[in-house]
Amino acid sequence: MDNDRSRLEVVHFVLVPLVAQGHMIPTIDLGRLLAQLGMQVTLITTPLNIIRYQLSVDRIRSSGLPMDFVPLPFPASEVGIPEGFENIDSWPFPFAIVDFFKALSMMAAPLEAYIREERKKKPGIPICLISDFSNPWTSEVSKNLGIPRYVFYSVCCFTLNLVKSFELDGGGDGNTVYVVPDLDERIEVPRPEPEIFLSGSEQEYVRSMIMDSDDTADGIIVNSVYELERMFVNRFSKMIGKKIWTVGPVSLCNEEKLDMAIRGSKSSSENDKIQHFLDSMNPKSVVYFSLGSLMQPSLVLLKEIGKGLEATGHPFIWVIRATGANLEAIEEWLKTNGLEERTRNRSLILRGWAPQLLILEHPSTGAFFTHCGWNSCLEGITTGVPLITWPCFVDQFSNESFIIDVVKIGVSIGVKEVIYSKEPDDVWVKSETIKTAVDRIFDGGDEGDDRRKRTAHLRDTAKIAFDAGGSSYQNLILFSKQVVMDHTVYTNKES
Ligand code: UDP
Repeated sequence: MDNDRSRLEVVHFVLVPLVAQGHMIPTIDLGRLLAQLGMQVTLITTPLNIIRYQLSVDRIRSSGLPMDFVPLPFPASEVGIPEGFENIDSWPFPFAIVDFFKALSMMAAPLEAYIREERKKKPGIPICLISDFSNPWTSEVSKNLGIPRYVFYSVCCFTLNLVKSFELDGGGDGNTVYVVPDLDERIEVPRPEPEIFLSGSEQEYVRSMIMDSDDTADGIIVNSVYELERMFVNRFSKMIGKKIWTVGPVSLCNEEKLDMAIRGSKSSSENDKIQHFLDSMNPKSVVYFSLGSLMQPSLVLLKEIGKGLEATGHPFIWVIRATGANLEAIEEWLKTNGLEERTRNRSLILRGWAPQLLILEHPSTGAFFTHCGWNSCLEGITTGVPLITWPCFVDQFSNESFIIDVVKIGVSIGVKEVIYSKEPDDVWVKSETIKTAVDRIFDGGDEGDDRRKRTAHLRDTAKIAFDAGGSSYQNLILFSKQVVMDHTVYTNKES
């Protein structure tokens, strides 16, 4: 393997992530992995996002890795978006997603100009684009420049299969469930709202652009593990007629605690407190509760979550995301309700953001209550922490099916509805549901034992795939070689 690596020709990879935490974070990880192979990497983003990830940017720059970050202006005002909103998570939910995507697509011309300059500076070095699947505007850039473009998905192939099958059969027969095709076992994915597959009228514009951009891509890179979902990787590759390289779990490039602590964060001020809290708890006893980087549950729902977590009797770390008036109401509730006081020795309530990898990696963490974003699912798998699933929107419902029905490493709380379609004051997940799920995950019986064994097995599988010689490591090398070959084809076409 190392011979393979030493014979690699240097490629200049230009990475264009979507400006959202669940996309930026894995793309930064992917960039680091390519840079560790000796590739030149430039990650394109907007000025405010460079500031947002400054800790990681500084650390990568000072490490001497051949990776850099280049800001291109975000034309917010041209589509009427207020200044300062350059990341999807800084928007109130639900947001004007189409305007946001329009502004992003206006970055095409500056990106093209940047790459033209780079080509002049580094003649002879193959250059290519790796674009997030949600940045379909990059296809025009690669076409104009005559360079290869690959699409990066931080979504599992199980979900990608469903999306494709759903598209091919025209949305199925209108039932409330969708049956996963071609499986021995019957697996149903709920279809509570159109958002589950990013269809629906408002989002149709974005969805069709994404489909077109996949069609013209030179290949697909996925933050997943071949051995984890072999059948779905192969099936998806066949369906779209393209090569797929699974290169995950990319989060494993964060080997040092400091990298885990600053991942996706502006500040590391709370990390010592979190570390100390976890160090003082029993092994595998802590419930980590997070609904990801976007969800902001209403106060009514938060009260149920708090009540449920308290009732479990387990220690817990609870991340609450809130902005504006909701934040004020939540702070007031926390101040007056006494939850923090009553659970003083066993709870940590974090506002806004948590160093997720640091928490999941810690031996005291015993369960992960997750919204089923794919990065979070994979991070749970990689750290061997069983999952309690509460999907909120888009691909999270099918990711939940993968976790519960396919690899069977979690307990579902049974939510079938998209979170932001509910009235803010609805109580539709009860505290008892939260408590029951936590009880089940820590269950000492056969069901719990089997689940823990499967979880540990998947953790080992993921680590082997990532390490030198494993399938993900090898795929990164094969991918880099393929880029050189594709680049030659493009160059010959041009001349
Ligand atoms: N994340 C984190 N701290 C938080 C919330 C999220 O570190 O408080 C990270 C998490 O580790 C993951 C990413 O942000 O890498 C979220 O991606 P995911 O696909 O799980 O969900 P999304 O937030 O995009 O819905």
